[in-house]
Amino acid sequence: MESVLPVVALVGRPNVGKSTLFNRLTRTRDALVADQPGVTRDRHYGFAVHAGRRYIVIDTGGIGQDDEDIDSQAFAQTRAALEEADVVLFVVDSRQGLLAGDETIAEQLRRIDQPVHVVVNKSEGQVAVSASAEFHALALGDPWAISATHGDRISAVLEHVFASLPEPRAQVLPHHRDAIRLALLGRPNAGKSTLVNRLLGETRMLTQNAPGTTRDAVASEFTFDDKPYVIVDTAGVRRRSRIDDPVEKVSVVKAMQAAEQAQVVIVMLDAASGLSAQDVRLLSLAIERGRAAVIAVNKWDGLKSKAREKLHAELVERIGAFDYLPLLFISALHGSGLRELLDAVQASHKAAFAEMTTNALSRTLEDAVEGHSPPAVHGRRIKLRYAHQGGRNPPTIVIHGNQTQRLSDEYKRYLMRRFREKFNLFGTPINLVFKNSD
Ligand code: GDP
Ligand code: GDP
Repeated sequence: MESVLPVVALVGRPNVGKSTLFNRLTRTRDALVADQPGVTRDRHYGFAVHAGRRYIVIDTGGIGQDDEDIDSQAFAQTRAALEEADVVLFVVDSRQGLLAGDETIAEQLRRIDQPVHVVVNKSEGQVAVSASAEFHALALGDPWAISATHGDRISAVLEHVFASLPEPRAQVLPHHRDAIRLALLGRPNAGKSTLVNRLLGETRMLTQNAPGTTRDAVASEFTFDDKPYVIVDTAGVRRRSRIDDPVEKVSVVKAMQAAEQAQVVIVMLDAASGLSAQDVRLLSLAIERGRAAVIAVNKWDGLKSKAREKLHAELVERIGAFDYLPLLFISALHGSGLRELLDAVQASHKAAFAEMTTNALSRTLEDAVEGHSPPAVHGRRIKLRYAHQGGRNPPTIVIHGNQTQRLSDEYKRYLMRRFREKFNLFGTPINLVFKNSD
């Protein structure tokens, strides 16, 4: 099975430590999510990195638990998550030992095609061999003793897991080197296919590679206003469902795969239904991956001007956490608002790849501190000395000072706002990194 990022699913009884392991694997040092107010990391799906290789982790334990009818839904959704996985980590608990519930799960896991690795959690302070001994009985290969809370032996497991996975495939590359890679995310029926067809049809469609497998990415190239674009799409993200199911959910994994390959993510909302929890989830995952993004409210044609005004006001208010993302109103069906949409895409892309000098960044930092200095902690002022750029896409700003770990989130957001305004960094998350020099 091939996909852009390998997908690792965590499976196991409740309380064995799946979510603890999930948090450890998906914790990123850059704290990109923590610094974006209102953006919450999905508790069940996350991006992770091991030795420079990115992958997706799914905690199947929590899936479906927030919904009604827990038993049947959780079961069905766990199955769906397993189908999307390339490899399974079966988590068991060394303290509790081998229980009947583990046997039941093992029976199911022996029937799936993907490789399964047994990880014996809570093994800190124990000799690996003895902690894992009894779990050989699961007949799923040699168990690996780990500790999710202490981090013991987790990288050894990952080393082993990645050794068994195929090498990552090359990304979808545009013919035009300067083409902007777009991903289009949104709920079923938002109008994604309509927009793609319009963009590809109205302009000269240059290339489209056919998917080799169902999970392969599709890339379609087009130009608009003489500027080249590539729409990357993991097959299925915009495939129409055979039955019009209003509660059909987007595949989070497919959306993550699409965001991985894109430079700018367009999140499409349906004007008729407004901003849903799923839309927020899609926006959050684009930001978590550090992608530039724009919000397109589609089917704008179907609304009377009063209703438009009302929806516009509602969105502006509710979209608070994403207030730095451009909000566009379009009609994919009639082709209106597309120029504005692609102009916003260009601007967001430019912001994501902005180059900022140490001088200009430090001056902005100085001005910001002058305008509103960080509060004193235990009578000592937090000093912020200078700033330099640590990376692009997303823009990373490294701030040097002392006691920076004591800065409040509120103050960090203030700084972010100042940098955003000064360097026109709208349409992209910003990664603020603090370094102490004392
Ligand atoms: P889940 O239900 O499988 O997601 O389990 P959780 O991650 O919520 O963990 C259940 C409990 O086990 C929590 O109290 C964790 O702190 C604890 N736990 C998780 N991993 C470890 C570990 O490696 N060692 C120890 N001693 N406790 C752990
Ligand atoms: P997808 O599932 O996101 O790919 O959505 P589709 O592109 O298949 O569109 C779903 C439905 O919405 C179709 O019946 C479209 O004709 C309709 N639709 C798409 N865009 C618009 C629009 O701008 N205005 C109106 N009124 N309907 C639209």
